[in-house]
Amino acid sequence: SDVGSQKERVVTEEEWLQKWEMANIGFHKEQGHPLLQKYLHVLLNGRSGLRIFFPLCGKAVEMKWLADMGHSVVGVEISEQALKEFFAEHSLPYCEEPVPEISGAKKLQSTSGNISLYCCSIYDLSSSIVGKFDGVWDRGALVAVNPCDRQRYVSLMITLMEKKSSYLLVTVSYDPNKHKGPPFYVPESEIKSLFG
Ligand code: SAH
Repeated sequence: SDVGSQKERVVTEEEWLQKWEMANIGFHKEQGHPLLQKYLHVLLNGRSGLRIFFPLCGKAVEMKWLADMGHSVVGVEISEQALKEFFAEHSLPYCEEPVPEISGAKKLQSTSGNISLYCCSIYDLSSSIVGKFDGVWDRGALVAVNPCDRQRYVSLMITLMEKKSSYLLVTVSYDPNKHKGPPFYVPESEIKSLFG
C-alpha cells in the first residue's frame, strides 16, 4: 500500500504535551485494551513475576492490571501530566526521583515499588538504565512514533528485550491517504523488516 503521505509527517514532543494539556487524548482507553486480555497468555507464557515494559505508556490502565498480577512494570512517557494522572486515577502513592544518567528526566515510582515510570523520551533510555524485559506491551507506541524514527525505535526496543521475551504489538489498519495520523499505518511487511 502507499504510505507515502505519512512518511514525512513529524509530531513534536511539544505537540504531544499539548494534547495532554488539552485533554485531547482519544487514544486513552479507560477500560483497558481487550487485546491484552485476549493475548495475556502469550505475553506471560506461563511465567510469573515478569518485568514488563510499556513504551510511550501514557496513563495506560494495563500497567495497573499487570502490577496487580505481581509483575513489575516499567513505562516511559514524555508527559509528566500523563504519569501523574495515572497514579492519581488509581489512588497509588508514588515518589519522584531524578535519573542520574539522563539530564532533566524523572522516575516516578509507586511506593509499593512495582511500577516505575520514566518521564523522558524513550530515545534517552538504554538497557544500562532500565535493564531488560521479559515482555513488552506496545499499543499506541510503534504506531505513534514518527515514521522517520521507526527503525531507531525498533532497534532500541530489541536491545531492551531478554532472550526469551514476548512482544505484543497492536497496530491499526486503514488507508493512510485518508488520515494523517497518529496513529500511523505500519504495514505488516514493514513490521517484519523492522523487527527482522
Ligand atoms: N500507549 C498509551 C499511549 C499512546 S499515545 C496508550 O495505550 O494509551 C502515545 C504517547 O506517547 C503519548 O502519551 C505521548 O505523550 C507519548 N510520547 C510521544 N513521543 C514520545 C517519546 N519520544 N518518548 C516517550 N513518550 C512519547
